[in-house]
Amino acid sequence: MLKVIRTVAEMQRYADAVRSGGRTLGFVPTMGALHEGHLSLVQRACRENNVVVVSLFVNPLQFGPKEDFKAYPRSFKRDRQLLEDRGVDVLFFPSRAAMYSKGFCTYVLQEGLTATLCGRSRPTHFQGVTTVVAKLFHAVKPHRSYFGQKDAQQAMVIKRMVKDLNMDIRVAVLPIVREADGLAMSSRNAYLKGKERQDALCLVNSLRKAEGLFKRGERSSRKILAAIRQVIRRVPSARIDYVSVVDPQTLQPVSIIGKKALVALAVFVGKVRLIDNTILRG
Ligand code: AMP
Repeated sequence: MLKVIRTVAEMQRYADAVRSGGRTLGFVPTMGALHEGHLSLVQRACRENNVVVVSLFVNPLQFGPKEDFKAYPRSFKRDRQLLEDRGVDVLFFPSRAAMYSKGFCTYVLQEGLTATLCGRSRPTHFQGVTTVVAKLFHAVKPHRSYFGQKDAQQAMVIKRMVKDLNMDIRVAVLPIVREADGLAMSSRNAYLKGKERQDALCLVNSLRKAEGLFKRGERSSRKILAAIRQVIRRVPSARIDYVSVVDPQTLQPVSIIGKKALVALAVFVGKVRLIDNTILRG
């Protein structure tokens, strides 16, 4: 039976009881509108832990003033049922006031890794992410946490935060789950209207083009980036926010690809901003 917990204090009491009983606690943070990408993390957490907590919190702090916080899809009842069906123990569903009480003014700020890629187009985003994940970690007190490679930069940022702040939590990063036609699953895919759903395939198609070139021996980032842009520019409703070939550890751009590189992109399809990425491995 899935238990819904809405306050930090109750979540902490629950976590203390689990831990003092010698059981392991796995944690999957989400913003809800769940899909198979989220559920792949849940499934892994269930396999590796005695108790699994999933949080559902649309975090206002990680949205910019002109972004989609209000419109973000919310489907609590459906999400609750999905988690119950998958055997999750607790759904942590705090209110905004439970997470950010009056007078809240303490943030977790990470430099370096947050300056590139999505951090450049969404300047306050990662501060919102690190702050909320740190708070969720303190509420849920997990042994292990689970994140998706879909948000590659976010996963790196969280790993770095855990290391830098001596948090005793394992961070697992799991592969991108895609629709049958290749589109990376995302709660924001629900915004895509009519032909935009088809147009959105330009993200994965451009990454596949890059993978093909790399396999045939191309190592110049400039040429790979040009090929990606060409695929996306063929779609009139698509507008590139960024495309980058970066070192997967530092997230800094590389000009010649060595053993490994992360190709990451963000593209607006109509008004919907989508992200995707792939790792090129020699
Ligand atoms: P969100 O609800 O978008 O904040 O995502 C919650 C977690 O699910 C994050 O760790 C995401 O990286 C992960 N996630 C989202 N979409 C996918 C996907 N298509 N495949 C794998 N993980 C995903």
